[in-house]
Amino acid sequence: MTKAQKADRQEAIERLREFLKPGDTVHTILDHVSRSGMSRTIRVVLLRGDDALHPNYLVSRILGLRQAKGDGLVIGGCGMDMGFQLVYLLGSYMFRDGFDCPGKGKCHSNDHVNMGDERDNYSPDKHHRDGGYALKQRWL
Ligand SMILES: [Zn+2]
Repeated sequence: MTKAQKADRQEAIERLREFLKPGDTVHTILDHVSRSGMSRTIRVVLLRGDDALHPNYLVSRILGLRQAKGDGLVIGGCGMDMGFQLVYLLGSYMFRDGFDCPGKGKCHSNDHVNMGDERDNYSPDKHHRDGGYALKQRWL
């Protein structure tokens, strides 16, 4: 990756962070599955009350994915939930240093499942290291 590409990714991350915070849900729509089944086109939608945001261009720059004609992102791979995978990757890039717990009912970190004594700690000074769980994915 060149310096210019890195700067472009960073700029896209900062722009998306303005309206996508830890604890938010990212909806995905499956637009197309390739004939071979080896790649699919997935569109990302953020629902905000009556409005829907379509940040596919920003996501494509962050994840280095090509966009199909209908705005969706072309992602390779099969045999797992690629919608989950896409949103997990997005969270990992956007919150590279992890994230502070957004609180009970909002937080999707698996720390609350795995961490034993710490699992019920939803205080804001609780830091989760894996940014991939900052965002929740749901199919539309
Ligand atoms: Zn948490």
